[in-house]
Amino acid sequence: METGRYLIYLRKSREDRDAEMKGEGETLARHRRELLDLADRTGILVKEEDIFEEIVSGDSIAARPVMQKLLTAVEQGNVTGVLCIDIDRLGRGNMIDQGIIQQTFLYSNTLIITPSKTYDMSDEIDNTTVEFKSLMARQELNMIKKRLIHGREASVKEGKWVGSEPPYGYNKVKLSKEKGYTLQVNQEEAKIVKLIFDLFLKGFGANRIAGKLGELGIKTNKGNAWSAPSVIHLLKNDVYVGKVHYGRKKKIKVMENGILVEKRKVGSDTVCVDGIHEPIINMETWEKVCDKFTYSRAHSAPIDRTLKNPLATILKCEKCGYTMSCQPRNDRTQSNKKRYVLFCKTKNCSCHASYLDLVEKQFINSLNGWLEQYKTQTLEPQNQNNTDIQKSALQNIISELEKLERQLDRTCELLEQGLYSKELFIARSSKLYNQINTLKKQKEKLEASISRDSSIENYKKELFPKTENLLESYWSLDSEAKNTALKEIIERATYVKEKYGKGNEDAFTLHIYPRLPKKQNPCNLLLRKR
Ligand SMILES: [Zn+2]
Repeated sequence: METGRYLIYLRKSREDRDAEMKGEGETLARHRRELLDLADRTGILVKEEDIFEEIVSGDSIAARPVMQKLLTAVEQGNVTGVLCIDIDRLGRGNMIDQGIIQQTFLYSNTLIITPSKTYDMSDEIDNTTVEFKSLMARQELNMIKKRLIHGREASVKEGKWVGSEPPYGYNKVKLSKEKGYTLQVNQEEAKIVKLIFDLFLKGFGANRIAGKLGELGIKTNKGNAWSAPSVIHLLKNDVYVGKVHYGRKKKIKVMENGILVEKRKVGSDTVCVDGIHEPIINMETWEKVCDKFTYSRAHSAPIDRTLKNPLATILKCEKCGYTMSCQPRNDRTQSNKKRYVLFCKTKNCSCHASYLDLVEKQFINSLNGWLEQYKTQTLEPQNQNNTDIQKSALQNIISELEKLERQLDRTCELLEQGLYSKELFIARSSKLYNQINTLKKQKEKLEASISRDSSIENYKKELFPKTENLLESYWSLDSEAKNTALKEIIERATYVKEKYGKGNEDAFTLHIYPRLPKKQNPCNLLLRKR
């Protein structure tokens, strides 16, 4: 009996599958028996857990999880040999994968044991034999793949179905007297296919159709709920008018960031022919559906997200405080511009809607009125007088304070010279202290008032020209620019409308609150429209 750990690796090849279909029996079970016999004959013991059986049949190591496990076990160096039916069972993928496998066996000193020969990778002749055999296997694989592709293309040209899964509405059936498959109408599913086409032509969107199918408890052939994309996919599939394709989903392998990835080949040389299967949808229906798709593509303008409401976020509902919303209307203004309506979105709010153009016009008129009114107010000499009076009052206080402080100094001197008694000094100086404190408070107040006035003046110096400029150019701006400029001038504005119906189109009231320093904010300045 040989000592050491031995593994068995089993994997089906494509040819095995073909052979199985011809009735040659299950390949892996046969290979397993064969290799266990070999182990018996050579006195090798293989534990059940050391039999590695690959279920998937990818050619690359990445696609073969069991091969990855086997390589890890071999790498650890405690495996004496791996039994397999032939060298090509270990791998006939690309040269890199082949190299990985050979190196792993070489460096771990692991034997490859096949029924016909045992390979020791450290032996030069064996190594070369393995390399040669792998090369041959790889070339053979490529030949098989090419034959397969040609075979599929030839099948499609004959109108046969070469896809693995049948589309919804059909079953995949084996052709009786020749190689290959075709589609057979699944009567139950075909009814649903017709229903989907029918609903679409009646104006149902893909979403609504999917919802309808959900209500009816109908699932896709994978057992999933219908979705808008799966409905569209079905509506665009010409298999329902009897066509078959090849190459439509052709995948190509490309290197991306050093990783091999599969990609759909675009604009590939596709084959589209009349299939031998029965159509479910007639040509007339199909063409109508195609027209609908082309029409909707041609007519779906990109969504216009530009701002339509120049009063957006500025104007609030006076009743509930909520921002007024804006919506397009079908009618037009006298100057043939698209009309919008302003309304309060709050449920049950009794504030009535108005046309945006009417509100906007009134808004600007009111702003104009406010500006005119304010301009005359500031130009009034009385305002300037007020500032002058404050300034001279401040000057008086300052000189008075200086006088009092001098007196205080003098009391101290008199006390030092012994001319003032202590009691007299305290009485005099505390009186002076009180006077000084009172004056200092007055001085602070006046200074604050003067600086506030001047800041208001400065602010007005900015705000008024800004407003004036905006009002001059307002009607030539687009909504977005209007909105931005208004926000700089207006803190907020409210809207309310109690009456509605004909004759009350402009029976709304606007209150506008310009951005002014708090103290003199003319909040109560009502700009009322009756
Ligand atoms: Zn409201």
